[in-house]
Amino acid sequence: MKQTKQKKPNEIKELLGYAGKFKSLTFLGMFLSAAAMIMGMIPYICIWLAAKDLIKVAPNWTEASGIEKYGWMAFGFAFGGIIVYFCALMCTHIAAFRTAANIRKQGMAHMMKAPLGFFDNNGSGLLRNRLDGGAAETETLLAHNLADIVGTIAMFVSMIVLMFVFDWRMGLSCLLAAVASVAAMFFMMGGKNAKLMMEYQSAQDTMSKAGTEYVRGIPVVKVFQQTVYSFKAFKSAIEDYSNKAEKYTGGVCRVPQSVNLTCTEGVFIFLVPAVLLIAPSALSSGSFGDFITNFAFYAVFSAIVSTALARIMFAASGLMLAKTALARIDTVMNAPVLKVTDNPKTPTDNGIEFKNVSFTYDGSNTPALENVSLKVLPGQTVALVGPSGGGKTTAASLIPRFWDVTSGALEVGGVNVKDIDPHVLMERVAFVFQNTRLFKTSILENVRASRPDASREEVLSALHAAQCDDIIEKLPEGIDTMIGSKGTYLSGGEQQRIALARAILKNSPIIVLDEATAFADPENEAMIQKALKTLMVGCTVVMIAHRLSTVVGADKIAVLDNGRLVEEGTHEQLSSSDGLYSRMWNEYNQAVNWKISSAKEGA
Ligand code: ADP
Repeated sequence: MKQTKQKKPNEIKELLGYAGKFKSLTFLGMFLSAAAMIMGMIPYICIWLAAKDLIKVAPNWTEASGIEKYGWMAFGFAFGGIIVYFCALMCTHIAAFRTAANIRKQGMAHMMKAPLGFFDNNGSGLLRNRLDGGAAETETLLAHNLADIVGTIAMFVSMIVLMFVFDWRMGLSCLLAAVASVAAMFFMMGGKNAKLMMEYQSAQDTMSKAGTEYVRGIPVVKVFQQTVYSFKAFKSAIEDYSNKAEKYTGGVCRVPQSVNLTCTEGVFIFLVPAVLLIAPSALSSGSFGDFITNFAFYAVFSAIVSTALARIMFAASGLMLAKTALARIDTVMNAPVLKVTDNPKTPTDNGIEFKNVSFTYDGSNTPALENVSLKVLPGQTVALVGPSGGGKTTAASLIPRFWDVTSGALEVGGVNVKDIDPHVLMERVAFVFQNTRLFKTSILENVRASRPDASREEVLSALHAAQCDDIIEKLPEGIDTMIGSKGTYLSGGEQQRIALARAILKNSPIIVLDEATAFADPENEAMIQKALKTLMVGCTVVMIAHRLSTVVGADKIAVLDNGRLVEEGTHEQLSSSDGLYSRMWNEYNQAVNWKISSAKEGA
């Protein structure tokens, strides 16, 4: 119980923190909801007054003078209550939508400050789901639940007041039903049962995640002819959910939920014993008329108690939904921020220097790079080679600050990258990485993304330089063809050539290339090599190449193994020494010769 008490205000406080100036609209909505609830109770009082009026003149009903007045009053307050509740919901909805919009804006603003590497580890779909989906899920709490909670509190307070106005014994029995229902709800969700409920919910989450993995893995199962037993995780997630669901719903909720529903739906039943107790004394004291009118009031009034209690149930689930949504939103809001210097310095040239750089990924125990020192002179081409996992991608991605070094320093033009204005650094460095993303827009706009003020002619000449003429020719609307629509899809190699056109158009003096030929077929690879030559003219280049043939002409080759720079030199120097590179070179040549000889034998 203590735990729930502490947490609820925090979620609301956190949400209201995002509401900004719309916070007051939420409070106004809550106030109006309370007013609407009180106004909605007045028609019941009018019924009571009318019944009292009638009983006073019985059996000469026509003598009752106030009926019409009470009728109009009841109608006025009922109608007014609806209007006020409508206004309350208008206020809370506007505030809820604005708050959700603020969450999205703040989340986006925060993500813009995150290092680029953050987006490698957190896919766009995942981030969208966390931020956009999370923001949408907070709407129910702000738009409905808070107003309903305040309305229900107003109802409880009014009930206590009414108890003294009418018959306290009948009032008390209605209140008892409400209290028993709320107590049953708290029993299910509070104290030690809160832990069971959380376990049940997280088992549900795990099951749904395992379900997604299961569906994703179906192609693998089909290709490798595996049986469903390979999806043990999904099976055990279902079993775990089933056990927890049975433990929580069967073991904890069965009795309190029965109590809760009985009390919510059957408030009227609680009146019966009170009425049976009071009736004899009312008959003997001659106040039977009052007794009947009070009974009529509470009999009708019990309906609103049920509605209000149902709203509390709804509010509790809204709170839980908002809590999980906020936890998801927090993962975006807590994303690391790329530090921006207050005193930016301008790089003096286009050289790059790794000075004793070490880097460890978040959550990893082993460094991906360890004490790497490497100098790339302006205009030089340096190739990073080495076994997979050696740290090539990591080293390359530190240059455009996908991540910041853990220790040591990385300099561009003699200035630590942390001291360069990020915009200046981005202008200076163009990168073509493995997973090139093209936007779902025209080829023209896709290429122009790197330099929005470029003219159509400049884009065309960049595409020409990137060997994209054949791609443009086969597309129905040339460079105005939308990618990803009406069956216009490009192969991996074609996408890379478009990405190269983007980099060529950007015309940056420093180029970082990662696995630029990974997706390419031989025909594409030849074209990519040509495009690269154009791109690299006069630039400082750091490139990762898997095919050693492409690094032979590099000014310098840096061999990374296990995060350490193990060799450095030209192809001639390294291939004639007895190191890792010469072993790799021999293996590469053997593979090439093997291919050639097997091709000859086949011919
Ligand atoms: P290479 O490009 O030479 O194949 P990487 O730079 O990709 O090597 O990886 C170097 C090491 O860092 C590897 O051990 C790899 O598992 C680890 N690593 C790479 N990317 C991440 C990441 N996003 N999070 C955690 N560890 C990573």
